Amino acid sequence: MVTKLEAFKSPRFIGKPVLADIEFFDSLEKIDQFATDAGIKIFITSSTRLQGGVISGAVVRPASRSNHLVGHGIDMNISLGEKLFNSDALDKSNLKNLPKGIQNFIQSIRNDPILRWGGDFTPADSVHIDDGLNLRDAATWDVKFPIIQSEMRALSQPNSISGQPRLLFLTEPPMHGDDVLAVQKALIQRGFNLKADSIFGAATDNAVTAFQEKQGLTADGIVGSGTRKALGL
Ligand SMILES: [Zn+2]
Repeated sequence: MVTKLEAFKSPRFIGKPVLADIEFFDSLEKIDQFATDAGIKIFITSSTRLQGGVISGAVVRPASRSNHLVGHGIDMNISLGEKLFNSDALDKSNLKNLPKGIQNFIQSIRNDPILRWGGDFTPADSVHIDDGLNLRDAATWDVKFPIIQSEMRALSQPNSISGQPRLLFLTEPPMHGDDVLAVQKALIQRGFNLKADSIFGAATDNAVTAFQEKQGLTADGIVGSGTRKALGL
């Protein structure tokens, strides 16, 4: 078993970056192929999540055992033409009314022996896809959980490993600090309606994404060196 958090990149995946365990990459490649075959794009809204409730460096084991916590799940909307299909549109009861490409995509996920579509869950979660690791191999989930969480925490620490300013992006719980404040102030200066509260929440994510779009940068909501430079930081 190899557990490592990396960014998965494909022109079919748009929206937020996909951070995932490299052992989920085979699944992501399959999803990518299904999307290609169906002629759709996958608008990522969330992938690996940082678990809240860190007590003196030890991560509290969550009740939920979500596959998002080990880098084996994504949340998405489906993009087709100019339209974005969200959780209401993707509801199981509405599938038959959707364009054929979207029906085919969901059906490919459902037909796959490993992948699971959240629309089949109770309660339903129609924007969710994972590989069922939490049920299929609970022992592996247990091993991966602290590794992936510690990598997520490292990503969200200032001046970690590289000594470079950290990447800023939307996490749960949100990143906070003076570096977030500096970004917020720069955005406010550029006319974005935002509270300078040092917390990288949804409003900051939206403002960053809108700013990047305006600047012709990759509109992924991640503040790295390119976005910092464009903000004059
Ligand atoms: Zn999900």
